[in-house]
Amino acid sequence: MNLPNQIKKLAAELATETIVNRRYLHAHPELSYKEFKTAKFVAETLRGLGLNPTEGIAGTGVVVMIEGKNPSKKTVALRADIDALPIQEANEVEYKSQNPGIMHACGHDVHTASLLGTAKILSLLKDHFEGTIKLIFQPGEEKNPGGASLMIKEGVLQNPSPSSILGQHVMPLIPAGKVGFREGMYMASSDEIYLRVIGKGGHGSTPELTIDPVVIASHIIIALQQVISRNASPKQPTVLTFGKIIGEGATNIIPDEVRISGTFRALNEKWRKEGLEKIKKMAEGLAESMGGKCEVRISHGYPYLENNPELTRRTRAAAEEYLGKENVVDLDLTLGSEDFAYYSHQIPASFYRLGTRNEAKGITSYVHTPTFNIDEEALQIGSGLMAWLAVKELMEI
Ligand code: MN
Repeated sequence: MNLPNQIKKLAAELATETIVNRRYLHAHPELSYKEFKTAKFVAETLRGLGLNPTEGIAGTGVVVMIEGKNPSKKTVALRADIDALPIQEANEVEYKSQNPGIMHACGHDVHTASLLGTAKILSLLKDHFEGTIKLIFQPGEEKNPGGASLMIKEGVLQNPSPSSILGQHVMPLIPAGKVGFREGMYMASSDEIYLRVIGKGGHGSTPELTIDPVVIASHIIIALQQVISRNASPKQPTVLTFGKIIGEGATNIIPDEVRISGTFRALNEKWRKEGLEKIKKMAEGLAESMGGKCEVRISHGYPYLENNPELTRRTRAAAEEYLGKENVVDLDLTLGSEDFAYYSHQIPASFYRLGTRNEAKGITSYVHTPTFNIDEEALQIGSGLMAWLAVKELMEI
C-alpha cells in the first residue's frame, strides 16, 4: 500500500478516537491564555502515544517532536490553536460546552483533536519518513497579542528550526470532504481603534452652552471613511468599521463624552501604518476644530497573512493527490485575521481550510456564532491530510 493510502486507512481507524477527543475538548472549552486543562489533556494524550511533549511554552502552549529516520535531515512544523471564545453555546448536543459563556465556536477543538490524530498517525509511521515533524499546540489565537507571537518569542521556531509551517482551520462555507488553498496574500492585518470624544455636556435645549460630543463623533465616523475611499489605493483591499458607539446622554441631555470603537484592516504593512496615522490625525483634528478633544488609542493586532506560493503549490498538489482534484478548492482573499500570520512573517507558511459544512445535516452556521458546529466526518480528513502534507513536505529537498 502506498503512503497516502496507508495514512488514509490509519485516519479512518482513528476516526472514532478523534471524534471522542474533539467532543471532550468541545465540552471543556477554555478562554485564550487560560487553556490549562486543554494543555494538560493535549500533553497527556501525546504522552500516551509514547511522545515527550514540552509544556508551558507561552503559558499554556505545548510542543512535541515526532522524529522519523534521520531526524536532523529536515523539520516541518504543524500548528493547531487551542483556545475558545466568550460565547454561550446554543447547540443542544450531548457534548455541549459545560463551561457557561465559553464555547469552541471557531473550531479550535477540531484543530486540536485533528492534530492529536495526526500525532498518532505519524508516530505509527515513524519508519516511513525521514526528518522531524514539530507539532505546535498554540494558546491565545483569539486575543491580542496572539499566542503565535508569544510562542515565536519563546523560540518555538528554533531547536530545531522548521523549514516550513502548515496551519489548518475549519471553514463552514466549504462542504465536509473538501479543503481550500490560496497562494499569496490570504488574510488581513487587524488593529483595534478606540476613540474617546470629549466635549462638554449640558441641557439639550442649550447647545450653545455645550460642546456636543455626539455631533463631533458623528463627523469623525463619516470623515474617517474617507481615509479608506480617498487615501487608500483602490487597488488594495482595506476596511474601517466602527461597530460600537456609546454616548450616554438622553433626549434632552448632551453627554460629556462619546466612545467609539472599531477595527482597521489592511493587506500591506506600509499602508497599515499610514492609515493608522491618518485616522489618529483626522479624529484629533476634527474634534479640535469643533472645540472638543479626541483621545485615540490603538491596540495593534496581527499582521497580514501571506501563504508562501511555492509551499502552498506543493501542499495543494499533495492534497489533490490525497483527496482527489475535485475535493480541493480555491479560497478567496478575506479581511479576516489570524495570528498564524506571525509564523508567515518568519518562515514559509501555508494556512489552508478544512471544509466542515453539511447542509443535509443542517450544519451551516458560521464561526463565532452560538450555533457553530461541524460535520465530524471532516475530522479524519483533518488528521490524515495534515500527516500526509507533513510527510510529503519532508520529502522535498
Ligand atoms: Mn479561529
